[in-house]
Amino acid sequence: MDLFEYQARDMFAEHGVPVLDAAVADTPEEARAGAERIGGGTVVVKAQVKAGGRGKAGGVKLAHSPDEAAEKAGEILGMDIKGHTVHRVMVAQGAKIAEEYYFSVLLDRANRSLLAMASKEGGMEIEQLAVERPEALARIAVDPIDGIDEAKAREIVDAAGFDDDVKDAIADVIQKLWVVYREEDATLVEVNPLVKTEDGAIIALDGKVSLDENAGFRHPAHEALEDTAAADPLEAQAKAKGLNYVKLDGEVGIIGNGAGLVMSTLDVVAYAGEDFGGVKPANFLDIGGGASAEVMANGLHIILNDPQVKSVFVNVFGGITSCDAVADGIVQALQILGDEATKPLVVRLDGNNVIEGRRILAEANHPLVTLEDTMDGAARKAAELAAAK
Ligand code: GDP
Ligand code: MN
Repeated sequence: MDLFEYQARDMFAEHGVPVLDAAVADTPEEARAGAERIGGGTVVVKAQVKAGGRGKAGGVKLAHSPDEAAEKAGEILGMDIKGHTVHRVMVAQGAKIAEEYYFSVLLDRANRSLLAMASKEGGMEIEQLAVERPEALARIAVDPIDGIDEAKAREIVDAAGFDDDVKDAIADVIQKLWVVYREEDATLVEVNPLVKTEDGAIIALDGKVSLDENAGFRHPAHEALEDTAAADPLEAQAKAKGLNYVKLDGEVGIIGNGAGLVMSTLDVVAYAGEDFGGVKPANFLDIGGGASAEVMANGLHIILNDPQVKSVFVNVFGGITSCDAVADGIVQALQILGDEATKPLVVRLDGNNVIEGRRILAEANHPLVTLEDTMDGAARKAAELAAAK
């Protein structure tokens, strides 16, 4: 999960990383009030969208009075930045910038390690710098167990070639940013720019943080950071039920167990759909190993509530949960759903105890359910039913 800048800023502040006073605002009036609270001087009004390059897109503007802050907020709110509409701005105390630096620490999957990057030439051209003069961006491997202690922080500031007068302060901030990374279970903590102000202070002026959702159970507070307004409502519902669901554009709802099986089901349905006017899968939904009646009902509930869905393909390979249990699950799920179940279901079961599973479904003889023996046959049937609707 990626955080908004203001959320990253608050997280930095909690861990002692130096940041400037700030307020969030959803209207120009709130921006004015925020600027007043901050104390009248120069403020910077910044679009809060989960996209980089806000500065270049006109989403970061200086304002010299509360009235001007309201005016700039009015310009920025509603702006489109790389496909993200701005609904909120952050009003922050203005910084008198002497230098702009760059620092980040991130998960380096390829090397099964962490990586710190630092440069004394930070700011809006950092991507270009990384391409054109990679030597100006120091890259230092960080051991995930040892992290960034004082010695490591020194190694990073030396490699980046920061001037002597700022080395100590930057090394100190880097160690605090490491604490953010470790304590919050982040996969990325990036500060660009990390600035030196005219009076020599080192301050994190812009922050980007990605949190590892797999560690969410250790951080009950992280839930409140989620941008529920932006999430697809069905995806949000699925997530609340612990289902692994991704909404897609097509007409055939898909339920399967195991990510690999579901992905190949998407392919097979898209392929079969070509013969029926380009029918496509409507979603990815992996109900995982324990395909109980409740999980099946939850999954069907989500899919049947997608108005684009015209038919549903349930593709389950019985393993630890055998096919008879899955078949019972489907029958009970249809009972639980009652009138809500209105779209045709094509079911393909295979694997452990498949004969009993098919017998259970055949005996239940639900009017919406079609049993198919093969994955290709079932995909074809589901596509055909979707096209006929
Ligand atoms: P980004 O473009 O999305 O990365 O947004 P940033 O928050 O990094 O802001 C872009 C640029 O705006 C920075 O690199 C600074 O040059 C400038 N900027 C941001 N905050 C301030 C500020 O308080 N004072 C001044 N003078 N410039 C700022
Ligand atoms: Mn930035």
